[in-house]
Amino acid sequence: MNSFSYWEQQGFGQADWVVIGAGFVGLQSARKIKEAYPKQRVMVLDSHAIGNAASLRNAGFACFGSAGEMLDEIGRTSLAEALQLYENRYLGIQILRERYGSTAIGYEPCGGMEVFLPEKPDEFTAIESRLDFLNKELKTIHNSDAYHVSNPIETGMRVLKTAISSPLEGSILTHQLYSCIRQDALSIGVELYEGMQVLTFNESSEWIEICLSNLMPIRTRQIVLCTNGFTPKLLPAIDLNPARGQVFVTNALSKQPLNGIYHADKGYLYFRSLGDRILIGGGRNQDFLEETTTEMAVTDTIRTYIKAYMERVVLPGQTIRFQYEWSGIMGMHENRNPIIRQESERVFLAVRMGGMGVALSAWVANQLLTIIQGAAVTDKRSGY
Ligand SMILES: Cc1cc2nc3c(=O)[nH]c(=O)nc-3n(C[C@H](O)[C@H](O)[C@H](O)COP(=O)(O)OP(=O)(O)OC[C@H]3O[C@@H](n4cnc5c(N)ncnc54)[C@H](O)[C@@H]3O)c2cc1C
Repeated sequence: MNSFSYWEQQGFGQADWVVIGAGFVGLQSARKIKEAYPKQRVMVLDSHAIGNAASLRNAGFACFGSAGEMLDEIGRTSLAEALQLYENRYLGIQILRERYGSTAIGYEPCGGMEVFLPEKPDEFTAIESRLDFLNKELKTIHNSDAYHVSNPIETGMRVLKTAISSPLEGSILTHQLYSCIRQDALSIGVELYEGMQVLTFNESSEWIEICLSNLMPIRTRQIVLCTNGFTPKLLPAIDLNPARGQVFVTNALSKQPLNGIYHADKGYLYFRSLGDRILIGGGRNQDFLEETTTEMAVTDTIRTYIKAYMERVVLPGQTIRFQYEWSGIMGMHENRNPIIRQESERVFLAVRMGGMGVALSAWVANQLLTIIQGAAVTDKRSGY
């Protein structure tokens, strides 16, 4: 016999939908489901208060893929898949801006710039030779050139004199976006319960019984997993690995020369202006094995690498101190396209957001609802 009260079990023990994960994807998915089925009870459960994974731990880039990343993506997957991913990220940002307003989410249309080390001019040349091709392929998405060659010299960085700008990219303030998404979900009637870690779930013909670490029994008609990098803990066979990202923010600087978002090393390094500070993150490719983890930690290897890049390249000759440092967990795969599907009769998935899930999240939530509604047409028993 569990020790939960009659009231607790009456009040919270049963739902039509349980969304696991209160990140950008889970909250927006819950909101879409509640909007489509207003009479149904939609709960979001998360292990942590205000989330602890990626949605409040990212870099706040509103980006779709630098030219270097796109070519890398095409090489790893295919042209069609890379274009699809770019388009979905682009559409995702437009939905966020329209739904919440650019000001509310701290959106700045600052543009992006991909920079290269002076000692590696071939990296620039290889990408530049494919810019026309990329621009032609991407033009159908937003009717303008995605990339052009630019001059980064006025930033004072020790980089090659030619860079590649992506004028359509921007930045957001992550905490403001999270707050908008959370408030929006709550205001439409989604219920959010934190401190609820799902250990497993058992599906029967009528219900799914959810087993929580606090032993509170909950049963639901359907669940949606929006657990991103943590999904293998619930579905070990899923095609996705956790990938830790580490982020650092400098002290306030007396002179902050950057304006916008910057990509380097095929997107494995990224940095941006943040008021009078610089935020910089990435470096996962310095130790892929160690960074394939769900453990939240900042490591000496990555901190040393990032600090050296800051002092050699971004602010050459200056001694940098970081006032903030943290890590977050992404859901990663060779193929960065998300997994959005019906897994079984009562289980749906919206996971594997890669490194640009801020951009993807709104589009993913829309897509998930389309899949759910498609399933509702074919399966009347589920009580949609
Ligand atoms: C360091 C870093 C920098 C990034 N920078 C950018 C960027 O600049 N731009 C961009 O577009 N994207 C960026 N991303 C990626 C983006 O943040 C993520 O793709 C996005 O936030 C994923 O959202 P999500 O809702 O799918 O997952 P998450 O935000 O990871 O949310 C998943 C939630 O599920 C919960 N959960 C997991 N397992 C369980 C369980 N068993 N029971 C209950 N709850 C559970 C977790 O606590 C978590 O709150 C970055 C990510 C990281 C880590």
